[in-house]
Amino acid sequence: MVPGAIMESKYQSPHRRWNPLRQSWVLVSPHRTQRPWQGEVGQKTLPSAITYDPQCYLCPGNQRAGGLTNPAYDGVFSFVNDYAALLPDSPALAPSPSGDLSASPLLLAEPARGLCKVVCYHPDHSLTLARMTPQEIRPVVDAWTQQYQELGDNKFIQYVQIFENRGAMMGASNPHPHGQIWSTDFIPDEPAAETLAQRGHLTRTGHCLLCDYLETEQSAGQRIIFENDYFAALVPFWAVWPFEVLLVSRRHLGAMPEFTTAERDGLADALRRLATRYDNLFETSFPYTMGFHQSPTDGSEHPEWHFHAHFYPPLLRSATVRKFMVGFEMLGMPQRDITPEDAAQRLRACSETHFWPRG
Ligand SMILES: [Zn+2]
Ligand SMILES: [Zn+2]
Ligand SMILES: [Zn+2]
Repeated sequence: MVPGAIMESKYQSPHRRWNPLRQSWVLVSPHRTQRPWQGEVGQKTLPSAITYDPQCYLCPGNQRAGGLTNPAYDGVFSFVNDYAALLPDSPALAPSPSGDLSASPLLLAEPARGLCKVVCYHPDHSLTLARMTPQEIRPVVDAWTQQYQELGDNKFIQYVQIFENRGAMMGASNPHPHGQIWSTDFIPDEPAAETLAQRGHLTRTGHCLLCDYLETEQSAGQRIIFENDYFAALVPFWAVWPFEVLLVSRRHLGAMPEFTTAERDGLADALRRLATRYDNLFETSFPYTMGFHQSPTDGSEHPEWHFHAHFYPPLLRSATVRKFMVGFEMLGMPQRDITPEDAAQRLRACSETHFWPRG
């Protein structure tokens, strides 16, 4: 029997799937992939052709909008975000003249403090994770590890969120290969929900949720895209975005500082392979938001936390047709058409050699 045949017949009609990590449901409507498309048509995006852009505020030696000048860096370059969403010193909120803040428990606000940084992955403006070598990505992993450690060591920082927005479709203002780090004096909603879910699973079963989940996926097979010795890339059973991917460490560990050097190399390898498959899927520079979820840095032990990365790409069926989260999805719950099993199968079929090789 063809692997996945049972799954295919089982999941052909509308159903909903439980996300145990987020404690929420997603509606799956496989039959809707038949409907005619009359929506947005856009342009394919090829990687940038220029290795240095005098207008780019992230290229080496250029002046940033905030007035500072980048050094002539030749590796990874991190700096404090000139337009940080959070600042380390945030004064107490003064009640407004109308007395809003004390008038009602339904008008709740708190000061929010944090530190925001930018991490340039490489001086070459034209590169992306997909077109960098694992040897070039490895120093980026080292920088993320160091930043997680340094930011998390601040007494007031409870969570360090490392992420990347790639492509104009995801609102990335600059194609230069870079990511961001927002660290906060509170645990943001997504990792907070995942903390509760992972803790609940550990308390109930004595096991780690993602260790159990990875074992389940490894024996099922249909949703795994690839594995190396240290990480597995899969389309989660509960994926919301068409080609959403969960990258999970095979060993139970909470955060990057616990990685061995081989695991750092393993992450660099997995990131390149996944990003290349993404680009090859529609032969475009594949847009996404990705980020790492790791143990909070709130000073508590977190045996429940299992390191992973989420990739949330918006593309649906071509380089130009994207998924929108509107209507029922804003008012009811997320919904998807193509099944996670189909998405995994398509990503498995993609080459790990980039369609647009470096010159
Ligand atoms: Zn640049
Ligand atoms: Zn685990
Ligand atoms: Zn997560």
